[in-house]
Amino acid sequence: MYFETEGIVLKRRKITDSDVFMTLFTLKLGKIQVFVKGGNYPKNALSKGTHPFTLADYSLRGSQKYTLAQVEVKNSFYHFREDLKTLSYGSYFVDFADKSLKEDEHNHALYHLLLDALTALHRDRLEEVKTYFEVRALKALGVLPELSACTKCGGKENLTYFSIPEGGVVCTECHQSTGRGEKIHPAMIQLMRFILRASLEEYLKKEINGLLLDKMDIFINDYMAYHLDLAPLKTKKFLKIYE
Ligand SMILES: [Zn+2]
Repeated sequence: MYFETEGIVLKRRKITDSDVFMTLFTLKLGKIQVFVKGGNYPKNALSKGTHPFTLADYSLRGSQKYTLAQVEVKNSFYHFREDLKTLSYGSYFVDFADKSLKEDEHNHALYHLLLDALTALHRDRLEEVKTYFEVRALKALGVLPELSACTKCGGKENLTYFSIPEGGVVCTECHQSTGRGEKIHPAMIQLMRFILRASLEEYLKKEINGLLLDKMDIFINDYMAYHLDLAPLKTKKFLKIYE
C-alpha cells in the first residue's frame, strides 16, 4: 500500500552505516516511524528528506511499518543550522511535538502550529514565538487553562488568582474563602487571551515585554509539569545557553 502525505521530520536516527529511521509527524497518518533505506548516504535522493525540521511531501510504502519511497522537499529550514540559538528553539519545538504525541496519534492543530512556529522562527523573536507555540500547544493538547471564568464559582469578575491544580483563574472572593490560587499578573492573562485569538503573524506585529515573557516561561513550565504527562525536556533547558 502507498500513502502520500505531507510531513515534518521530528527525529532522525542512524541504525546502520547506510540506513536511517525517522520520526515523522504527518497530516494523514499522525506521528509515525519511517525506515529509509540508504538514508544515511548524502547522495541518495531520499536522504534529504530525513533531517529534522524538513517539511516535505512523502510517499510511503507499507501499512504498519512504513518505508520511504519518494520525497519532495518543500522547506528544509536549513538556515537553523547557521545559528545555534535559532536551532535550539526549533529543536525544542520538534522535541515537544514528538514527546507529546503517541505513535499513530493525529493532531492537526499541533501540526499546523508546529509548522507556523518553525516558519516564524527568527533570531530576534525567538522567545515571542516560543510563548505563542506553548500557549497554543496547551489548546491543541486539550489542557488549555480556563481564563475567563473562576474555576471555583464561575464568576467573571476579579479574576486575579490562578490555580495550577484547578487549571485556571480563581476570583478574589474564592481565593479568600478557599485559599486556592496564587496571584497572577493581569498582563499574563491578557497575553494568553491575545495568543488564543490572534494568528502568529498578527501576534508578532506587537511588541511584547521581555519580563512578561520571562514570567510566562516560569508559569508555563509549572503548568505543563502539572497538566501534561511529559518528562522535562532537555531541549528546553538548552534554550538558555546560547546567547
Ligand atoms: Zn470564584
